[in-house]
Amino acid sequence: MDVNCSNFKTYKHRLLLVAEPPFMRSLCSKCRRPESVCWCTCLPSPPLTPMCRIVILQHPAEEKRCLRTAPMLQIALEDGKCIIYKGKKFPQQRHAGLQQILEDSNSILLYPSKDSVDLDEMPKVTAETTPYNLILIDGTWPQAKGIYNSTPALHTMKQVKLVHNTKSEYVIRTQPTDGCLSTLETAAEALAVLEDENYRDLLKRPLKALCEFQIHHGAVVHDSKEFRIKNNTYPKRLGKRLNRFLRDLES
Ligand SMILES: [Zn+2]
Repeated sequence: MDVNCSNFKTYKHRLLLVAEPPFMRSLCSKCRRPESVCWCTCLPSPPLTPMCRIVILQHPAEEKRCLRTAPMLQIALEDGKCIIYKGKKFPQQRHAGLQQILEDSNSILLYPSKDSVDLDEMPKVTAETTPYNLILIDGTWPQAKGIYNSTPALHTMKQVKLVHNTKSEYVIRTQPTDGCLSTLETAAEALAVLEDENYRDLLKRPLKALCEFQIHHGAVVHDSKEFRIKNNTYPKRLGKRLNRFLRDLES
C-alpha cells in the first residue's frame, strides 16, 4: 500500500506537470517584443510632436526583417507624425493621401542623389514656416534605388542628404557604408538639423537599448561593408550597384 501510495504521488506529480499550461512568452502590446527584451521604457513619453511629418516609403521585404527601426520611430512619435506606406513603387491606389504628399512643395526627399543638397542648407523649421514632409525610403540600398527609379514623383522633388560624421549606432545590422544610417537614425538626424537638436538623442535611445541588449545576448557587432571592404574582411563579391555607390561617395 505504501508503495502504491508513493507511486500514485509520483504519478499525480507527473499529471500536475502535464496539466500546467505551456510556457508562453508574453509580448509587449506596444513593440510586440517579449516583455523581457522590450525597449519601450526608453521611448520618449509622451510621444514626440515635431512640426515636420515623416513619410516612409517601405519596401515589402523590409517588413519581414525581425529587427526594423521604422516601427520604433512610429511609436516614438505622436500618431500621424510618422506614416508608413508599403510597396515597390508609389503611389498606388491603396496609398491613401500619398499622392497629395508627393505633390506638396514642402515635401523633401532624403536621398543621396547627385542633385541632392546638404540638409544643413535647407531653411530651418519655425512656428512661422510651413513644416516639411520628410520622405524616407526604407530598404536596402538596391531596394531603395529600385523604389526611387519606379517612382517618377520622387525625381522632381527637392532632394537632400545628411552631412554627418557619425557612424550608425545600429551595430547589429551591417550598413553598406560608414555613412549609412538606419531609418530611425536618419529621421532623428533630419529632425535634429531642421527643428531641434534634442530629437537626435531622444529618438535614438530605444535603438541603443535594443542594440545593447542584442550584443549582451550574443549578437555580433557588424562593421559596415565599406569598412570591411577597405580592410579586406568582406566575404562576398560586391554588388555592382554598391560598388558604384561607394565609388561615388569617394569622388
Ligand atoms: Zn515594448
